[in-house]
Amino acid sequence: MMDGHDISTDILVIGGGTAGFGAAIAAARQGFATCLIEAGQTPGGVMAFCPGMPWGAAYPTGTLIGGLMEELAGRLMAMTPPAAEARPCTLENFGPEIIYDPEIATLTMVEMLEEAGVRFLPGTTALAPVMEGQRIAAVEIADRRGLRRVRSKIMIDCSGDGDIAAKAGVPFALGDATGAMMGVSLTFFMQGADWDRVFAGNDPYFTGFAEQGVAEGRLHPDLAKLYMMKGFHRGSVFCNSVVIRGVDGTDPADVARATQEGRRRCHALARFLVDAVPGFEQARMTHLGPTVGVRETRKLEGMYRVTGADLAAARKFPDGIVACDNPIDDVMRTDNSMTHDAALGAGDYYTIPFRALVPQTVENLMFAGRIVSADAVAFASVRGMPQCMAMGQATGTAAAMAIRDAIPVQQVDHAALVAELQRQGLRGLGDDRLGGK
Ligand SMILES: Cc1cc2nc3c(=O)[nH]c(=O)nc-3n(C[C@H](O)[C@H](O)[C@H](O)COP(=O)(O)OP(=O)(O)OC[C@H]3O[C@@H](n4cnc5c(N)ncnc54)[C@H](O)[C@@H]3O)c2cc1C
Repeated sequence: MMDGHDISTDILVIGGGTAGFGAAIAAARQGFATCLIEAGQTPGGVMAFCPGMPWGAAYPTGTLIGGLMEELAGRLMAMTPPAAEARPCTLENFGPEIIYDPEIATLTMVEMLEEAGVRFLPGTTALAPVMEGQRIAAVEIADRRGLRRVRSKIMIDCSGDGDIAAKAGVPFALGDATGAMMGVSLTFFMQGADWDRVFAGNDPYFTGFAEQGVAEGRLHPDLAKLYMMKGFHRGSVFCNSVVIRGVDGTDPADVARATQEGRRRCHALARFLVDAVPGFEQARMTHLGPTVGVRETRKLEGMYRVTGADLAAARKFPDGIVACDNPIDDVMRTDNSMTHDAALGAGDYYTIPFRALVPQTVENLMFAGRIVSADAVAFASVRGMPQCMAMGQATGTAAAMAIRDAIPVQQVDHAALVAELQRQGLRGLGDDRLGGK
């Protein structure tokens, strides 16, 4: 039953993670009424669930990808004192990462949405599409006041899990070929650590300490590697170590169970760090995630599916909308191994094609972010937040083009889209080659 307060807009973005943030701002800046609905209370998605998670893969071949990622990072870096900086990643095959103050970053994202004129509706969940033939006429949404419908010319699914796109009939694969999905993670900070002593060794995984903790029965056996890195503020250590395997991120009960199990393992790890790892004696846990961050669920089927072979060949598509050189960052899909093998030759990059964000049949739907059309190998590389934000930026821009030309999204002119994205500052697209590649 609808409550009579239905919304009418030009472009509806579902999900306010990095992809939805990019999509909504890009769409609104094109002059179209844009509504962004987010089930949680803040934008960010994984940024909100794992506060302080660095923006990786922003510098393919050492060059910033540009666009909204550059704008957001630039704003934070220009603050006094700065609220973000680029630092080398301590793990092999990853380029520099952007580390930031998560509170200031979230506030800045909300301000950018406001400045762009986006109608941002937090605490609002998209439930189901209302189909009219090959189009989505409206999306049913719910907040604590009840059910409503959003009527929109174009919908962009940036929900990470693709519930609406799946219900609209877009085929998808869940996880890899066997259905296995990457592990989910609960993160936290240790504040008040002595960086010089904590990071005196050169093993980014602290494997010696991990072995000790597992052998003593203090740490779960999957904690054989403790990935910890310096947080943005001196004395803070970001702990992205606790991974829970075998979780279906599309099942709320499974996610809740994993979050509770994650809490147990995070608290055990924090206690172990204080007791056993030099430099943590005076530290304490803060910023424990409100829920686990989900790496992988549905991968929707688009007009094109990016493959591991595309990455290995460093393919630069004519409709490429963002550059990437992230490794194959695979986390505990089948066993407790974490690999980040290089995706392609050193110093090169590939691009993600716009067609991987466009379904084959639904005429007014696009998707962006970790639900991109990709095989399991490519997915493990394309999923970085800078790339998700740029995918969003591309779909928001394409939505405006489709409305202006009164065409299905499948017919958006790729050359015109790429030219517009270049105008918006995205690098490494079309004839613009990064690092002479
Ligand atoms: C543990 C972990 C570690 C990672 N490490 C890194 C890293 O170091 N660097 C990096 O760059 N990337 C990292 N990634 C990958 C990256 O964070 C994600 O791929 C990226 O954030 C996905 O962005 P997204 O916008 O597509 O989806 P999400 O961030 O998942 O956001 C989706 C949003 O949609 C909302 N939503 C879902 N369903 C609905 C609905 N029906 N209605 C309304 N709203 C809805 C959710 O609340 C959420 O806010 C990591 C991911 C995880 C989980």
